[in-house]
Amino acid sequence: MNIHTRADAPTGLSAQEEFLNELFDKGVLFDSGVDGLYGRSGAFEDVIKAFDRLVTRHGKHDAATSIHFPPGIARPLFEKSGYMKSFPQLAGTVHSFMGGDADHCTLLAELEAGQDWTGQQQATDIVLTPAACYPLYPTVAKRGPLPPEGRLYDLQSYCFRHEPSKDPARMQMFRMREYVRIGSPEQVRAFRETWLERGQTMMASLGVPLKVDVANDPFFGRAGRMLANNQRDTGLKFELLIPVTSEEKPTACLSFNYHQDHFGSLWNIPTADGGVAHTACVGFGMERVALALFKHHGCETAQWPEAVRQVLWP
Ligand code: ATP
Ligand code: ZN
Ligand code: MG
Repeated sequence: MNIHTRADAPTGLSAQEEFLNELFDKGVLFDSGVDGLYGRSGAFEDVIKAFDRLVTRHGKHDAATSIHFPPGIARPLFEKSGYMKSFPQLAGTVHSFMGGDADHCTLLAELEAGQDWTGQQQATDIVLTPAACYPLYPTVAKRGPLPPEGRLYDLQSYCFRHEPSKDPARMQMFRMREYVRIGSPEQVRAFRETWLERGQTMMASLGVPLKVDVANDPFFGRAGRMLANNQRDTGLKFELLIPVTSEEKPTACLSFNYHQDHFGSLWNIPTADGGVAHTACVGFGMERVALALFKHHGCETAQWPEAVRQVLWP
């Protein structure tokens, strides 16, 4: 989509804000008043559904077990996952009112007075899922040792990350599809290699410019910087990047993560031969892929290049 410059456009808007405004103007996304929280048009959802089927077609020979988790994870599992050590800035917890009549009166009075009323709420047993694969590891651990061939899962979940932004590609609530491989180091590394290739072939078929680069997660704080450097140096995370609002800083649309035995030892997942399971996941940012397509092919999907339409709607 060409970024149109309207005569009345306020000056000084970032390219991200311009694209976001254009998506609002053209009815692709709907503003909620909160950055990163948007409604989606039917056309946008049709693209997401079509891309979802495309991923399935590329992964179909691997016989994955599909699990649909809700967008919340049990708080005890979240606590054990170590997420608050690494990414406290992104987490979102679900709170609810659990008081009696008097507390309710206080809450209503605070609301009425425009004061902070959320102190009347308490943490529930649910935390918003930060990445589609987080609920999987404790689920797999319950099944005992892996079979010799390991396991492969196909997941999709809405995820929450508290990273409000004017960048339409950085949402607070978005969908992540993931394939997760659990097995020996060789099985898991082979899976990631396969998807690094497949991911590029698949995205190239959608007519978007792309590159793959080494990456790191936004580990929190000073200690986090070391973790991030180590992740890069050891090549544990790669991203497939597509320019959406910037050529210099393209957007991570797919990511390929090798966790080594981190989750296998944390959750106690043994391999068939008594070792510790290794894990890897490939994550597809559903909204990001859709936005990349709207950016490069325009906001009228009926006018997208025929070759691209054939891939999405064969
Ligand atoms: P970034 O570096 O841009 O923050 P990330 O490294 O945090 O991305 P992952 O944690 O690997 O991303 O998440 C898997 C996929 O989910 C990403 O490849 C991306 O496509 C998508 N994703 C991540 N964060 C967001 C977000 N805030 N909004 C929309 N999609 C996202
Ligand atoms: Zn994952
Ligand atoms: Mg991120």
